Amino acid sequence: MPESSSTQTFHKAHGLYPEPSSVDDFRRNLAAVQTRIAAACHRAGRDPQTVRLLPVSKTKPESSLRLAYAAGCRMLGENKVQEAHGKWEKMQDLPDLQWAVIGHLQTNKAKLVARFASEFQALDSLRVAEALDRRLQAEGRSLDVFVQVNTSGEASKYGLVPEEVPGFIQYLPAFTALRVRGLMTLALFSKDAGRVRKCFVLLRGLRDRLRQSAPAGVNLDELSMGMSGDFEIAIEEGASVVRVGQALFGARPMPDSHYWPGEPGPENSRR
Ligand SMILES: *Cc1c(COP(=O)(O)O)cnc(C)c1O
Repeated sequence: MPESSSTQTFHKAHGLYPEPSSVDDFRRNLAAVQTRIAAACHRAGRDPQTVRLLPVSKTKPESSLRLAYAAGCRMLGENKVQEAHGKWEKMQDLPDLQWAVIGHLQTNKAKLVARFASEFQALDSLRVAEALDRRLQAEGRSLDVFVQVNTSGEASKYGLVPEEVPGFIQYLPAFTALRVRGLMTLALFSKDAGRVRKCFVLLRGLRDRLRQSAPAGVNLDELSMGMSGDFEIAIEEGASVVRVGQALFGARPMPDSHYWPGEPGPENSRR
């Protein structure tokens, strides 16, 4: 049994994660990820039931999303609002399929999110909170939200700096259509597992401290952290939601900098 401190990152997606082309393929990928989740939970003395797997389908075609649905997935994560909304429109025949928007949102797209999303994991400004709340009220809907925190200190990453979060959450009860569920982060993209782990430790520590001072109605139970390359470390540090794309849907063809505009270039520290 490896020590948890020796858990490594797996950021080389190519070759490691085959693209599923049948429901059975997808089920195999899903089972492999669930096995990794269970092993990480075992190392950390956690019940695997306390970790929710959010499959991330960004950039993948509708046919792949349908494989995920057929394999039992009922919520999918997408990081671009327009792409997510388009997929939602095309998959209206699956009314029990829910959508989580996990990427940065501009206020002018709040209207789209309010229409179809069940969850928004990248709240990092009051302007977006206000825009979402107003649009949700108009739609007669509500939305689960996670506050995104920049735990890596990289200027290019979205999210509030940790010091801003205590003040920020005090304003959130005013937005009655938003149900605050917890915090979300993207760790440093690095093969240095120790530095990745520090990001997760920071988020959990912040959450634990904030629980004392959170205003009524702001629930901080959830910690959304960890993706294909680092979710085992995140689970060891307390993740309750892991957002996994490539390990389920196959490697994406483009470098990550393509999907996170503003990240350091293709040869960023992640490889
Ligand atoms: C794409 C994405 C993920 C999943 O990354 P994979 O490497 O595909 O597992 C997780 N979180 C966010 C915010 C993303 O945009």
